[in-house]
Amino acid sequence: MTFKELEIIEPILKALHEKGYENPTPIQEQAIPPVLSNNDLLGLAQTGTGKTAAFAIPVIQQLHQQRKAASKKREIQALILTPTRELAIQIDECFNDYGKYTGLRHTVIFGGVNQSSQVEQLKRGVDILIATPGRLLDLMNQKYVTLNHIRHFILDEADRMLDMGFIHDIKRLLPLLPKQRQTLFFSATMPEAISTLSKTILHNPVRVEVTPASSVVDAIEQRLYFVEKPQKSDLLTDILGKEKEKTALVFSRTKHGADKIARALNKRGIGCEAIHGNKSQNARQRALTNFKSGKTRVIIATDIAARGIDIVNLELVINYDLPDIPETYVHRIGRTGRAGNSGTALTFCSSDEYTMVKDIQKLTGKKLRTAPSFPASAAPQLPLQEKNEVAFELERIPQGVKRRKNHPRR
Ligand code: AMP
Repeated sequence: MTFKELEIIEPILKALHEKGYENPTPIQEQAIPPVLSNNDLLGLAQTGTGKTAAFAIPVIQQLHQQRKAASKKREIQALILTPTRELAIQIDECFNDYGKYTGLRHTVIFGGVNQSSQVEQLKRGVDILIATPGRLLDLMNQKYVTLNHIRHFILDEADRMLDMGFIHDIKRLLPLLPKQRQTLFFSATMPEAISTLSKTILHNPVRVEVTPASSVVDAIEQRLYFVEKPQKSDLLTDILGKEKEKTALVFSRTKHGADKIARALNKRGIGCEAIHGNKSQNARQRALTNFKSGKTRVIIATDIAARGIDIVNLELVINYDLPDIPETYVHRIGRTGRAGNSGTALTFCSSDEYTMVKDIQKLTGKKLRTAPSFPASAAPQLPLQEKNEVAFELERIPQGVKRRKNHPRR
């Protein structure tokens, strides 16, 4: 299958060619035709599957074709709502890349920064607006944005919106959108509340699904380390010291924890930066740019700050702490193994986190392969039943991985 066979128009084909996209990804193959036919869409796909282009390409194409016919004053005709600033910026970059030969104008608005340059862009007139919910409502209240001309509404990462408490903002926005519109709804997982929301805003949607909510990209090698909290920092240093060439994204549950990990690594000569909600937008963007350009190879992030980070060749994801909900694990490790690359996800589990490992295994339907505990002599203090399960896991260590001398078989 080629983009041409999907009946993508020449100006977009040219831009895709420049981006080096040779063939559509599965979600693009499934989503582009119904979206071009103006259907509503329910897309179950996580970041890394090419879902941004799956909605951006057909929306650009429709706007371009409609614009030619009507060619009047610019009004916002497509609204993309996404939960985080990072994701919003990345989506804006995609519209820039795919739409650069169409003459369509787009801009991005998000909170945490001064609004004046965003307002300037809006005053110039845009066809496509990418926004996070809070800033959108804010600028609507100030009358810089009206939604009266929206014909395409895209709700991206709906499950994350819910996790981040944006559901009320979305419910406030929905009645302000024109009833006659196309709605595209994307979510990596489909918990009850999201399913209910999707039913209230979609009209006869075409459903496309590339990876089941709980499935974990096969290209990702997953390993579990049993390590108590005080030793996690040593284990991280050990791993990053051995994997000198690799780019790594390390997840911390808290902002304070992320800073602490970053300080410890920097002290030990492993250059890294932390990104989280307490850092200014500029500092976060700078850290991401340094990471993408290879200036820093390790980034420590909280879930919210890292959401949707688009780094195609990220090689290593490390769960320094286990997340609070198992779906977050799937999101986290989906940062690696993207666009056909392989990747590794390592998880550090202390004795009080083992229940979460069991929940993750239940969700993904896969047992996590266990690496020798760290340090080898320090077995985690697990309750008896869980100790037996861990022992079973350790039995499954493939041949060739040597048990260290002091390592008790438990
Ligand atoms: P997304 O799921 O939208 O975050 O996309 C994940 C990554 O895949 C991004 O870096 C895209 O640039 C890349 N990508 C999207 N579509 C294609 C394609 N058809 N061919 C190659 N790379 C793609």
